[in-house]
Amino acid sequence: MTTDSKGFFGEYGGQFVPEQLKPILDNLAAEYEKYKEDPEFIAEYNYYVKHFSGRETPVYFCANLTRKLGGAKIYLKREDLNHLGAHKVNNTIGQILLAKRMGKTRIIAETGAGQHGVATAATAALMGMECTVYMGAVDVERQKLNVFRMQMMGAKVVSAQSGQRTLKEAVDEALDAWISDPENSFYLLGSAVGPHPYPAMVRDFQSIVGRETRAQIMEMEGKLPDCCIACVGGGSNAIGMFTEFIGDESVKLVGVEPAGRGLAYGDHAASLCLGEPGVMHGFNSYMLKDDKGEPAEVYSISAGLDYPSVGPEHAHLKDLGRAEYVYASDREAVDSFFMLSQMEGIIPALESSHALAHAIRIAPDMPEDAVIVVNLSGRGDKDVAQIEEMVSQGRFAIPDMK
Ligand SMILES: *Cc1c(COP(=O)(O)O)cnc(C)c1O
Repeated sequence: MTTDSKGFFGEYGGQFVPEQLKPILDNLAAEYEKYKEDPEFIAEYNYYVKHFSGRETPVYFCANLTRKLGGAKIYLKREDLNHLGAHKVNNTIGQILLAKRMGKTRIIAETGAGQHGVATAATAALMGMECTVYMGAVDVERQKLNVFRMQMMGAKVVSAQSGQRTLKEAVDEALDAWISDPENSFYLLGSAVGPHPYPAMVRDFQSIVGRETRAQIMEMEGKLPDCCIACVGGGSNAIGMFTEFIGDESVKLVGVEPAGRGLAYGDHAASLCLGEPGVMHGFNSYMLKDDKGEPAEVYSISAGLDYPSVGPEHAHLKDLGRAEYVYASDREAVDSFFMLSQMEGIIPALESSHALAHAIRIAPDMPEDAVIVVNLSGRGDKDVAQIEEMVSQGRFAIPDMK
């Protein structure tokens, strides 16, 4: 998919921002256009994703899980094996290298659950850049360990105290900081969302996931996968997997959103499945609204998926019918979390467990020579304390799935 000159995917995307931000974004878009096909820039990106993050990540055939379910072969793309435990570093490396080329010295980011803040702090340390991460005061309290991780790597964490004191206020304060110092600072966005050029740029940096997957599955299976599945928060790991296969009509692409506790208002964050078109955070996409048309309250067991909108390219792929979007509940995600842990000895992130849940749902009805690839976007170490607490409260029991 390509964006038109104003950064639209069909009718979605664009730049719905204050006037002062437009020239800053246009400059960023122009600089990105200049470097994105520069062989030296690409070589530098390839160097760091290999030597800093450990790429390429393997694809792994889940022999035990496949045998248990019967039906399609289930493979995992092991993004959980990246440095810092998730796919996010693919993007932070790309953007920080661009920041360096643009002569910037200061990185600004905002983070909700803290995962993107940690990846940003790490790459800023790598490049010797100053780093300020904005976080809602409520999130600072909830995500103490991630705040400490960022601080250990030399980042400054600013607690946003206005309004609801969550992600929205952190975004506002981070944007203010950018507008007040565009000469020196670079806004490093964590998912395939936001105003143009971020959705296309983040997609490009994440599309290494799908490129590697294609070559790896061709080598192991001698054909393309029948189905690629990824969880969708903002949509960066999903678009990173999908992009390489969009032109191959035989490859089914499925994004899985969080259905949380249920489908009532405030209980989920299934923006594509249950939302409607609208503008928030500077772009047009599907979003969940409250009765005043403002961003809805959202919920998911996985902090990385609870966002009331979604990357604009997914909105376009949905309308085109090229990708399908479904949801999985907290319960299904937790069941899948334990199933992968017990059957394969791999503890997945709760986000990724949503994608896995859909694979587990559909594999038994597919032929034995069919191939499913699940993008295992992250590892579950960060979720262990949360699961332990829920088990000790009696909300879940550790099942015996063998
Ligand atoms: C942040 C995160 C996500 C959600 O972000 P996307 O942009 O939708 O990929 C998914 N999985 C993990 C492990 C994450 O850390």
